[in-house]
Amino acid sequence: MPEKEVGTSIVYLWACHECGAGSYNVSSTLACPNCYHYRCTHCAVERHRIPNHH
Ligand SMILES: [Zn+2]
Ligand SMILES: [Zn+2]
Repeated sequence: MPEKEVGTSIVYLWACHECGAGSYNVSSTLACPNCYHYRCTHCAVERHRIPNHH
């Protein structure tokens, strides 16, 4: 059975390195709503593959 990538999308979630809050979507949340820290290179970013539901 062939593995297909269709039906999934990649999202990048980041966690605030200042207060540890998260996770926030990289594309929709620029700054931490908890402490107003803007995402920087120290903030951890994780790649997640989520299935699309239609
Ligand atoms: Zn924060
Ligand atoms: Zn940071």
